[in-house]
Amino acid sequence: MKCPVCSCQDSRVLDSRPVEDGSSIRRRRECPVCGKRFTTYEVIDTVPITVIKRSGKHEFFDKHKLTYGLSRACLKRPVDAGAIADSIETELQNSLISEITSKDIGEMVLDRLRVVDTVSYIRFASVYREFRDIDSFVQEIKTLNLASKRKNAIRAMREKQPADPEKSGEGKPGAGGDENG
Ligand SMILES: [Zn+2]
Repeated sequence: MKCPVCSCQDSRVLDSRPVEDGSSIRRRRECPVCGKRFTTYEVIDTVPITVIKRSGKHEFFDKHKLTYGLSRACLKRPVDAGAIADSIETELQNSLISEITSKDIGEMVLDRLRVVDTVSYIRFASVYREFRDIDSFVQEIKTLNLASKRKNAIRAMREKQPADPEKSGEGKPGAGGDENG
């Protein structure tokens, strides 16, 4: 940070502390050349993200609105709608994009719900993807089942690591009876 007196490009931080609500940091600095002390404030730079809706209408991304839409899909389900909305907001902020379609946001929601809770996923998808007929709805559920079957198969394979042959016969009392002969 440039010194306001001698324009030295360097400065030494003497003290850093959060301001009131913690949304910014106040730093007390000292110029190593002329000794001038000055204060700077550091704030998070958030870029407003424009959402382009199906209708073509533009509006700013609103996390609370997203949370509301999500909470209806997650009603009485073990899903934290607020946490999902938070993670989507974070991803959008990190991507540094300035606009996104509502369709893409919907897909981001579905990606998360698919992993967390099938019921919420189906509820959200049925509203969001506007299933036109029962066939497309059934197709979606089939795709889901396939994905979860694949996931279970992979898990089963991992659990079936080459077992210790000495232990494989244990836990079956009275199964063989080969000691009787
Ligand atoms: Zn200076």
